[in-house]
Amino acid sequence: MDGTAKLELFASYMSLEPAEEHTPAPPAKTKGAAMLRESSAPYRVSSDATHPAIPASAYQRAACGSSPAELHHLVNQSQSAPDNTQLPAKARSLGVHHAAMPGGKRIALLKTLLTSACERNCYYCPFRAGRDFRRATFKPDEMARTFMQLHHANIVEGFFLSSGIAGGGIRTQDQLIDTAEILRRKMGYRGYLHLKIMPGAERAQVERMMQLADRVSINLEAPNSERLARLAPHKIFVEELLKPLQWVEEIRRTRSPHFGWGGKWPSSVTQLVVGGADESDLEIMSVSAELFKRTHLSRVYYSAFRPVTGTPLENRPGENPLREYRLYQSSFLLRDYGFDLEDLPFSTTGNLPLDTDPKIVWARANLIDAPVEINRADKLMLLRVPGIGPKGAEAILAARRQGKLCDLRALAAIGVITSRAAPFVLLDGRRPAWQLSLW
Ligand code: SF4
Repeated sequence: MDGTAKLELFASYMSLEPAEEHTPAPPAKTKGAAMLRESSAPYRVSSDATHPAIPASAYQRAACGSSPAELHHLVNQSQSAPDNTQLPAKARSLGVHHAAMPGGKRIALLKTLLTSACERNCYYCPFRAGRDFRRATFKPDEMARTFMQLHHANIVEGFFLSSGIAGGGIRTQDQLIDTAEILRRKMGYRGYLHLKIMPGAERAQVERMMQLADRVSINLEAPNSERLARLAPHKIFVEELLKPLQWVEEIRRTRSPHFGWGGKWPSSVTQLVVGGADESDLEIMSVSAELFKRTHLSRVYYSAFRPVTGTPLENRPGENPLREYRLYQSSFLLRDYGFDLEDLPFSTTGNLPLDTDPKIVWARANLIDAPVEINRADKLMLLRVPGIGPKGAEAILAARRQGKLCDLRALAAIGVITSRAAPFVLLDGRRPAWQLSLW
């Protein structure tokens, strides 16, 4: 089998992981998504009864409200997967995805594996040991050559390389490092490179990868050891998965970035499977908050569980894509908006509401009776207002230096989503005029 045929073989299994800096959006074409769009329309405050909610009947067929087949279709079609329709069909068949880079530039990213053979047997994974399907393996120089052929043909601009585990985590990690060495040192590749850290890798290997990559990652898969045991009983949560993320941060903190690729250390990310082990949103957000604080991850990715035939979890219902979306919203509140874990609106069962943006839930509970004065609030307080993001808060601070902001048009002109912000703000001491008619 030649390199392109192997890439095509892998590509059908590689669509689950999100692409780099992709910003998730509500899943499309679901009842819930239609309701989500409603909730972004001009805010209605008369009572909770007017706020869109997902009917209980939506959950009767499966925990997620859709049959597994519908879910599969929805997740593939939703905006939480990157829009790859602009890519040539050939590129898509090889596993090339559109991905947004830090800074917003979009590139064609090849996401693939060194081998689809694996000696572990994680319960959710299509590559698990013993599953009956055709497998293939690249040698490092073959993989590097195949990638560079695609790169020179302008089919791919960046590379995300992962692998099944064959011969132990250390050996597999060496193969990934060898591939990256060949690309960087022999073939002169200077473009974007995201490398996976293998469970069981050594610290020195992690450091070597950090000298070659723009981004490194290892997937925690679950929020703690107990949940992981239900998904991947042969992975060790702290020693194999958490520890490498801590090493990455230690190395970034203690060694000069001069040693990193291009004179800077790579960013780091992880991923959690959502809905595969009965974990709560509180468990997921607790570990996310710790990771942002202690290991300075750029992103925690959340992947709604989808059953894979021929695995022990094949009969488990897929998870609602809306849940994944609410987790992303919450993680951005923790990472970029100054929210603490305690600010997130968990129910008594430890889950977030599915039908409402968590920032709006917080604002309803805290800002309706104590609206934020746009002309005096500091940046952190501005960030608490729905419709105001980091850019909007900066724009408000800059605009205030020129004069008072007295109406919603002025706010809209600098990028604030006024339909969301209006119920929670004061403009020069007054509630926005248009809002009064809605009360
Ligand atoms: S170690 Fe990775 S590739 Fe292997 S079964 Fe587990 S998740 Fe799949």
